[in-house]
Amino acid sequence: CGIFAYLNYLTPKTRREILELLVNGLKRLEYRGYDSAGVALDAADGKDISIVKKKGKVKVLEDEINSRINELDFEGTTDSHVGIAHTRWATHGVPSEVNSHPQRSDVNHAFVVVHNGIVTNYKDVKVFLLKKGYQFESETDTEVIAKLVHHIYLQNPNCSFRELIEQVIQQLEGAFALCFKSKHFPGECVATRRGSPLLVGIKAKTRLATDHVPILYSKDAESQNPDHRPHGRGDLPILPRSDSTAEFQPLEDKEVEYFFASDASAVIEHTNRVIFLEDDDVAAVKEGSLSIHRLRRSLDDSHSREIITLK
Ligand code: GLU
Repeated sequence: CGIFAYLNYLTPKTRREILELLVNGLKRLEYRGYDSAGVALDAADGKDISIVKKKGKVKVLEDEINSRINELDFEGTTDSHVGIAHTRWATHGVPSEVNSHPQRSDVNHAFVVVHNGIVTNYKDVKVFLLKKGYQFESETDTEVIAKLVHHIYLQNPNCSFRELIEQVIQQLEGAFALCFKSKHFPGECVATRRGSPLLVGIKAKTRLATDHVPILYSKDAESQNPDHRPHGRGDLPILPRSDSTAEFQPLEDKEVEYFFASDASAVIEHTNRVIFLEDDDVAAVKEGSLSIHRLRRSLDDSHSREIITLK
């Protein structure tokens, strides 16, 4: 199973190029094993999100994408875009199209997510969301994540995308690598992990101005509204927000591409500059900048994540 996400910022790409990048990323992750695959990208109208997913090989997904050239508007160009992609190894729910990822919050695709791992408390979260009126279409544990972020968003419409995801992961138990895309936050991607691997790849035209990304500490998002605590992890020691409000800006010019991937084999053809995320890091890309936030100190008490140059 694997995750691959691609973001270009002020770097014009055709939608064909973006789809090819996503599919190639998935092909590089095929060796990890999987039973189905899917992608999400902005719809050609710029308003909706298009999701294509298929049971079976990445080749089956690729054929499906190629059969929808017109709908997916292959020749259209975009200069700032977020695409997320996934190969699934089913743990909850049979291999099928509806159980494939990306999973969605609702038919309007407010939030979509790809997930590797298992949410062990998904039943509790699902009961909570069912009571709130959510209806589920898949048998996956993952679908609760998409719907939980939607619920939290409706309660906190002024929160940033990253703050929403911080609230979400406080409710989740188990293992996960996650990548989110949202219609409410076009051009932004938030990714996080706990117990499943995830790295960030950075490809810039100019030299990076730093080889470290500072870790920013977030204020306790959970305390804002106790209503979204189906399974509250109230035991977390929450640190006050750090003084630093600066978001990481690695570049002198702003043309930059970012990747999120389960392992380096998926990004190495594009860039050798990577950051290996640690458990509970929340990485957000917005307007060409990457930030890494945490709600609590890392075990090793590090203050930054190193941008490693792979050989
Ligand atoms: N538990 C999720 C599912 O069954 C994700 C499986 C995976 O890691 O691919 O859909």
